[in-house]
Amino acid sequence: MPAFLPGDTGLSQAVQRRSIQETGAPCCRGPQIQFADDMQEFTKFPTKTGRRSLSRSISQSSTDSYSSAASYTDSSDDEVSPREKQQTNSKGSSNFCVKNIKQAEFGRREIEIAEQDMSALISLRKRAQGEKPLAGAKIVGCTHITAQTAVLIETLCALGAQCRWSACNIYSTQNEVAAALAEAGVAVFAWKGESEDDFWWCIDRCVNVDGWQANMILDDGGDLTHWVYKKYPNVFKKIRGIVEESVTGVHRLYQLSKAGKLCVPAMNVNDSVTKQKFDNLYCCRESILDGLKRTTDVMFGGKQVVVCGYGEVGKGCCAALKALGAIVYVTEIDPICALQACMDGFRVVKLSEVIRQVDVVITCTGNKNVVTREHLDRMKNSCIVCNMGHSNTEIDVTSLRTPELTWERVRSQVDHVIWPDGKRVVLLAEGRLLNLSCSTVPTFVLSITATTQVGTLQGRGAKGGLLSVPMCVCNRVPWPFSCHVVSPSIGSPNAGEGATCVPLIPAFLSPFQTNTSPACTCLRSTPT
Ligand code: NAD
Repeated sequence: MPAFLPGDTGLSQAVQRRSIQETGAPCCRGPQIQFADDMQEFTKFPTKTGRRSLSRSISQSSTDSYSSAASYTDSSDDEVSPREKQQTNSKGSSNFCVKNIKQAEFGRREIEIAEQDMSALISLRKRAQGEKPLAGAKIVGCTHITAQTAVLIETLCALGAQCRWSACNIYSTQNEVAAALAEAGVAVFAWKGESEDDFWWCIDRCVNVDGWQANMILDDGGDLTHWVYKKYPNVFKKIRGIVEESVTGVHRLYQLSKAGKLCVPAMNVNDSVTKQKFDNLYCCRESILDGLKRTTDVMFGGKQVVVCGYGEVGKGCCAALKALGAIVYVTEIDPICALQACMDGFRVVKLSEVIRQVDVVITCTGNKNVVTREHLDRMKNSCIVCNMGHSNTEIDVTSLRTPELTWERVRSQVDHVIWPDGKRVVLLAEGRLLNLSCSTVPTFVLSITATTQVGTLQGRGAKGGLLSVPMCVCNRVPWPFSCHVVSPSIGSPNAGEGATCVPLIPAFLSPFQTNTSPACTCLRSTPT
């Protein structure tokens, strides 16, 4: 688990500047993360000029969680801002703002395809057998809006919750999926290519509603949480539970908590064993090659690859690359992880030792400036450089924006950076998360995190009481109740109370897998 250190809690500075500070001690496992956040006021009406140029990724945190980068939507088909359009669904409701409600049917098919590999969520719906365990829950959510999250949102609705939803990333919304949700009656405010102004406007439209007040938050990155905290303190105080999925959002909650301002129970899904041990590891194992292949068409057999960081993400990347016949080197600052890399058959090296010879460099550390300009200068011609970690600061891309280097966009998300002597370095996704920017991510693994989120919300609703930023724990209890998902954190004023037992693991498995699984699927027996 990353070591979260108190950072700047000033929420009224520049928009979403985040930096990850390098760890001081070489044996320290996690990065120290510091950032300053701000939320700007949105304008009531969008300006036509400059809307596109304003567009940029609002929340790097959003890249920490999963979205399907592949949308079948052509966002250039209609330049009119959704905020300026009058749209109604087939039931006459206009309680939404999406790109084009007419795409709903197409979006519905996308959701149905995702449902096929999200058996956990579907089984939660079936288990409820018409009961509404989330009746009374008024959930305001801010996540990627993709087919997979649509299955999550519709599961929450099926369990009785009322939902209003916005996107946590300005680029990741699948417009057709947002349209399908709006057609189904979900109050969704999101489209691909929002401006910063649109981004906050959409969040506000979810929170600021006459006659409806949210009592739960499901967030990815903390933008929604902080908007409610800053703009609607009275609503914030009445929130019964915040569920946060991303490392950055969790960090921001810790900051609030340490400042004594977190008066609301918050659930840390990011550190749940059911996210870390699945999402981070298997999602990356299954998507790293997809991202590399789609962008470069490179053959990996016999190629020399260096992976920086052998945590969950690094382990997934190394396993995939090794399986394809690549020669994989690992760099690590944590001796335990370094030893694990050795024992898994990888050569642990210093980056400077191999930088001249490798064909591909992949960062997976969550740290900053892991690949420096010096490293980039020493790489060989055609070396591919990319990042799988949370932040786009792992590779010092800024140092490449100097007059002597020429940038050539050769494909979407692929730049050739050319040195004066003609050497080219192939930079993918400008150093942003490769899999989220350039490929899709596996639906099934998303369903595990999504089911953890539903379970957490259910537990919150059912138990009441206060939990302060609980850690998720897996305890040894008899099958089929194999996973305690939420339990109070160490140091919580209510430690020992309100632990929620949700039988999650069986829900993840198909009937076939359930029948053939061992009696206990516990992954850890002690609190993280
Ligand atoms: P982790 O803490 O398990 O692993 C990170 C590893 O990097 C640690 O072992 C640490 O010692 C090592 N490290 C730190 N600085 C280093 C340096 N300068 N050189 C070499 N090694 C260094 O974290 P994780 O779960 O593997 O996640 C890593 C990053 O990936 C995080 O930023 C996380 O948010 C992100 N992430 C990405 C995806 C994705 O789909 N791409 C999924 C989950 C998480």
